[in-house]
Amino acid sequence: MSKKNHVFKAEIQQVLDLVIHSLYSKKEIFLRELVSNASDAIDRAQYVGLTDKAVVEDAPQWKIDIIADKDERTLMICDNGMGMSEEDMDKNLGVIASSGTQAFTQALKEKKDVNVPELIGQFGVGFYSAFMVAEEVTVISLKRGAGQKAVKWVSAGSGTYSLEDAARDKPGTTVALKLREGMEEFLDEWRVREQVKKYSDFIAYPIRFGEKGEVPKDDAAPLNTMKALWKRAKGDVKPEEYEEFYKHLSHDHQPPLKTIPVSVEGVVEFKALLFLPKEAGFDMFMPNKKHGLNLYVRNVFIGADFDLLLPEYLRFVKGVVDSSDLPLNVSREMLQDDAVIRKIKSNITGKILSTLAEMQKDAPDDYRLFFAAFGRILKEGLHFDWENGDKLKALILFQTAKTEGNGFISLKDYAAAMPEAQKDIYYLISDDIKTARQSPHIEAVTGRGFDVLFLTDPVDAYIIDRLAEFDGKKLIPVDKGDLELGSDEEKTEAKKKLEASASEYKALTDFIKEHLKDDIAEVKLSPRLTDSACCLVATDRAMNATMERLMRAMNQTVPDQPRTLELNPTHALIQKMNAMLTADAADPALADYADLLLGQAQLAEGSPPKDPQHFNRLITGLMARP
Ligand code: ADP
Repeated sequence: MSKKNHVFKAEIQQVLDLVIHSLYSKKEIFLRELVSNASDAIDRAQYVGLTDKAVVEDAPQWKIDIIADKDERTLMICDNGMGMSEEDMDKNLGVIASSGTQAFTQALKEKKDVNVPELIGQFGVGFYSAFMVAEEVTVISLKRGAGQKAVKWVSAGSGTYSLEDAARDKPGTTVALKLREGMEEFLDEWRVREQVKKYSDFIAYPIRFGEKGEVPKDDAAPLNTMKALWKRAKGDVKPEEYEEFYKHLSHDHQPPLKTIPVSVEGVVEFKALLFLPKEAGFDMFMPNKKHGLNLYVRNVFIGADFDLLLPEYLRFVKGVVDSSDLPLNVSREMLQDDAVIRKIKSNITGKILSTLAEMQKDAPDDYRLFFAAFGRILKEGLHFDWENGDKLKALILFQTAKTEGNGFISLKDYAAAMPEAQKDIYYLISDDIKTARQSPHIEAVTGRGFDVLFLTDPVDAYIIDRLAEFDGKKLIPVDKGDLELGSDEEKTEAKKKLEASASEYKALTDFIKEHLKDDIAEVKLSPRLTDSACCLVATDRAMNATMERLMRAMNQTVPDQPRTLELNPTHALIQKMNAMLTADAADPALADYADLLLGQAQLAEGSPPKDPQHFNRLITGLMARP
C-alpha cells in the first residue's frame, strides 16, 4: 500500500484540539492511557490464544516495553498483544466517531470548567492524550493471525493522518511519540517508573524500561509489581491502590463510592473486587449498555463485561472476579448454564445487597448519594429478583408527604414513624413531587397525621405490585377505591355522616353524573377530601392517571377506564352548587360549573383538562362576570 492521507472526523479533531491546547498540568496521564491500551491488547490476545493456537502460536512472554531515546526525543510504548490491521487503525484511531467521542465533546460543551484529560479516559478516547506531550505520533502494528500485514499510522494531530505499509516481524503494536520540546522529563527512567508505579502497578504483564532506544532484556526487572489486587489480603492494599485500579477498570475520573473485596471459600472458591461508582456514567441509561465484571480464571484474563456474573439491576457495579473452579477455555455460551457461575452470581449479588444495607445503616449520606445515582436501576430488581425481594424492598428510598427538600426515607423509617392509629402504609403514584404534594388525594390521610409515600419514578408503576406489603402492613393507594381511615367506630361514624349528606346532595350528584356521563363512571361524596372541592378516583383494579399516561407514552393501548368524581360536601363551592340547584334546577351556570369541576380534578392529578379551550373559555367567562 502506498501512503494514503486521511482526514480526521470532525469530532475527533475537536477532541484533539482540546487535548493539544489544554493547559492542564497532569500531562503524564498519557502514559497511563497508552499502557492501559497495551494491556487491553494483550488481554485480548491471551483470550483468543486460549482457543486459537494459530493466532498465538508460541506461548509468548506477554510484555510491555517502554523505550526512551534522548537523542531522538522519542518515547515508544510497545506491546505484543493483538495488534491492529489497517482497517482497525482506520476505525479506532481516526475516522468513525464513537458514541464516546460524541458524548465527550457534548460533556465539554455543557460544563465549562471540566478537567479535559480526566474526561479523556472516561469517554474512551485515551489514545489521543498522547498529543498532549507529542508533536507527532506514529503507530506501527501487526495484527495477530494469518495473512496480516504491518501498517504504519502517523499524525501530528492537526487535521490529517496517514496510513501506509510498514515493516514489523512480530505481532503487536508500537506507539512512538516524538515529544514536544519541554517534555524531555518523560525520557527519564525515574519519571516513567514513578508514573507506572502510581497508575499501572497492578497491570498483569511486566512493564520494562529500555534506554537509548534499546529494547529491554526479558530478564530485566519490571517497573510494576503485577500483583492482582483482588488476591491480596484486604489490609495489605492501600486505598490509593484500590482507587487507581478502579479508575483503570472503569475509566471513571472520580474515586469509587465504595470498594468491596470478596473472598469466598467452600463449595465454590473465588475472589472478587467490586466497586460502586459515585455517579452514573453518561451511558448508564442507554439501551444495551455493556455491563458485567471482568473474569479471570487462574490469573488468565477471560473477558470483560461478563454479564452472567451480575444481575442486570446491579449493572452499575464494576469489578473483577477470579475463580479457579472454572475451566480455562470457557466461552460465554458454555458459561450460560454453568452451576459455578450461577453460584458466584448469587454470592456476589448477596454481598452487594448486604454492603448496601450496611451503608444505609452506617453511612446514610453515602447511601443517599448512591440511591440518587442508581436507585432507579436497583428498583428493577424488585421486578426480576424475587428471591431477594425483601432485601431490595428495605433498600428503596422514598420522598413522602412529610419529608422536606431532598429528604428520603425507607419503608422501615416509615413504619417506625407510624402513629398507633395507623394500620396501613399509604402511597400515591404521581408524575412528580410537586404534583404529589398538592394532590387532593392525600388530604384526609395527612390530615390525620399519617404520612404518604410518593412514587414518582417511571419504574415505580411497574414495581408497585411487588411492594404490596411491608412488615405485615399493606400498601394502600390513596387515589383508588374507598379509602377507609381510622378505627372501626370512626369508620362507621364517617360512613353514617356521608350517607346523611348523600341524600341532601342527591339532586346535585345526579345532575353532575348525567351532565358528565361521557367522562366519568360515578359521582360520590368523598371520604378523602378536606380542603379541595373534588378529585378523581380510580377503581381498585384500574390504573391511576400517571400509569395511564405512562402506558400511552409507550404506545400501549389503554382501555377507557372512566373514574369516579368525588365531591367534598364541606367545601364552600359544593355547598354553593347545591344551593344554586335548589334555587333553580335549570340554571345554565350549573353545567359550566360541572365542567370546571372535572377540569380542576384532572389538573390536580397532573392530567390536562379534556378540552382545554372549553375549560379556558369557562374560566374567562367566570372572571369577566360582574
Ligand atoms: P479505548 O481504549 O477507551 O477504547 P482509545 O482511544 O484509548 O480508547 O483507543 C481506541 C481503540 O484503539 C482501542 O479501543 C483499541 O481497539 C485500539 N488500540 C489502541 N491502542 C492499542 C494497542 N496498543 N493495541 C491494539 N489496539 C489498540
